Amino acid sequence: MEHRDEALTEYLEHVVEEELQVHHEGSMPSYMEQIGKADKDLVGVAVMDVNGECRQAGNAQEAFPLESTSKVLSLALALEDCGAEAVFQSVGKEPTGEPYHAIAALQEGDRGVPPNPMINAGAIVATSMIHGRDGDERFARLLHFIRTLANDLELAFNQAMFEAEEKDLNRALFYYMRSHQVIEGSEDDHLVPYLKQTSIEMNCVDLARIGAVLANQGRDPDSGEPLIRPENVRILLTLMFTTGMYGGSGEFAVDVGIPAKSGLSGAILAVVPGRMGLGLIGPALNERGNSIAGVRILKRLSTRWGLGVFS
Ligand code: GLN
Repeated sequence: MEHRDEALTEYLEHVVEEELQVHHEGSMPSYMEQIGKADKDLVGVAVMDVNGECRQAGNAQEAFPLESTSKVLSLALALEDCGAEAVFQSVGKEPTGEPYHAIAALQEGDRGVPPNPMINAGAIVATSMIHGRDGDERFARLLHFIRTLANDLELAFNQAMFEAEEKDLNRALFYYMRSHQVIEGSEDDHLVPYLKQTSIEMNCVDLARIGAVLANQGRDPDSGEPLIRPENVRILLTLMFTTGMYGGSGEFAVDVGIPAKSGLSGAILAVVPGRMGLGLIGPALNERGNSIAGVRILKRLSTRWGLGVFS
């Protein structure tokens, strides 16, 4: 086992080392540049198995905002709070070819119901369903839940990042859905928690631990304590697999073959069910909005270790 672990760490280091030699042009959202998180050459990866053993390489300790990877976590808490039946009355389960922020995705849908919870409109709905008297309590509960999954009580959202983020598109989605009664209440109570969750910061090790909880049927990899119900984990992993990589989900499913969710910060949360969670960072994005380095690394790891769920 020890020998195998060493080989694993060595291979991770080797892959990251090679990736660090490549300068990826790619794009980055302007708010990352505004608050000085614009290092396109950053590359980090952490892998945690279901027993809590962690391997890491590159800039795995560097903090980054979750951005859209947070959508998995707010959906998880909405499912825990309300149950799947209630959640899927207001958001669909279907992939969409539209970009993550497109209003067109809503118009296609049934009465303004967003097609799935991995695009912005669907994530806004899911977060708005998290129990709480108001937006502050809703966000506080979500942050506490994420801290528990990552086993890191220090995790917080980055206020400067939150202020710099482009918000008008999300407001447009919110009011469109509110006019169709898909969502109710005020912007402060039902939209702001979503806007804040995308600015929560963590590193690859934290993200890999969250992945390990999902890989472990929702149980804490150290204590075995149940944190997410297995039936909800199944839903989360399925939606990650079919919709987690935006318009690149099909290609990623074929080439890498594991449930994953990307964010515009270049973060990727990936899960190999029953085996391990992975957290990756690589801020240069491809035309689909996915981390170029992250996708390349996952492809190599999956090929080498036969990680694909159908392998
Ligand atoms: N903060 C971004 C937004 O809500 C996150 C989107 C993303 O990572 N795709 O617009």
